[in-house]
Amino acid sequence: MNEFKGKKVLVIGGSRGIGAAIVSSFASEGATVQFTYAGSQAAATALATSTGASAVFCDASQRDGLTAVIRDAGQLDILVYNAGLLLSGDPLTLEADDVDRLIDVNVRGAYHASVEAARLMADNGSIIVIGSVNGDRMPMAGLAAYAMSKSAVQGMARGLARDFGPRGITVNVVQPGPTDTDMNPADGPHAAHMHSIMAIPRHGTADDVASLVRYLAGPHARGITGAMHTIDGGFGA
Ligand code: NDP
Repeated sequence: MNEFKGKKVLVIGGSRGIGAAIVSSFASEGATVQFTYAGSQAAATALATSTGASAVFCDASQRDGLTAVIRDAGQLDILVYNAGLLLSGDPLTLEADDVDRLIDVNVRGAYHASVEAARLMADNGSIIVIGSVNGDRMPMAGLAAYAMSKSAVQGMARGLARDFGPRGITVNVVQPGPTDTDMNPADGPHAAHMHSIMAIPRHGTADDVASLVRYLAGPHARGITGAMHTIDGGFGA
């Protein structure tokens, strides 16, 4: 119940899906949790009420607003960057602005949030970015920009682990496979195909991903850094 009592956690993109599970998970273990929302104010308000966490607006594609939220949060013990966009379609016809927005949220935001959090972060803190197994394996057409963004955060984590390691700060990427959320519903049109290439042919849950995040932020994982942690039911096996 109190594994994270006294710890201060900020989740960027915590209103729904995996982010909301991460908020609930840390709050249930006694942490002081703040999270951001962009489009889902009602869901954010409900989550704040049910968990005791606090919600603040932030469009993670806007660097100044993002870094201001992190500065205002003060000295963090744990930053989780979960905000993410998925864009699917023929790269020859996708709108370039939509691709750039995906890169802004999935890559630029992850980098600037991680660096800004590290300025004030307590020694032995944790930075965790939610990537994707698609950073390693992309077995479907139409997702090149998404896969690119999830590979980019791998390099970022390896580099920042070196930069912040002397302070005991770990930097890791959690890479879910198909996980039942609004982004990728277990009964969605592509579910059967995804299951056909998984060792365990079903979607995972947001709570499972949150458990891995909590482990990586906890006392037994202080030696784990600059690493990718895949939780994908064997999608990438
Ligand atoms: P959802 O679409 O269910 O939720 C996305 C979250 O990101 C929401 O909380 C949303 O907040 C937030 N978000 C989106 N755009 C912005 C923005 N501009 N600024 C701030 N927050 C934003 O997705 P999931 O929960 O499934 O995904 C969470 C993460 O997990 C993503 O990084 C995704 O790429 C990754 N992932 C998911 C997989 C899956 O199968 N579900 C598989 C692999 C990786 P709001 O609604 O308030 O805008």
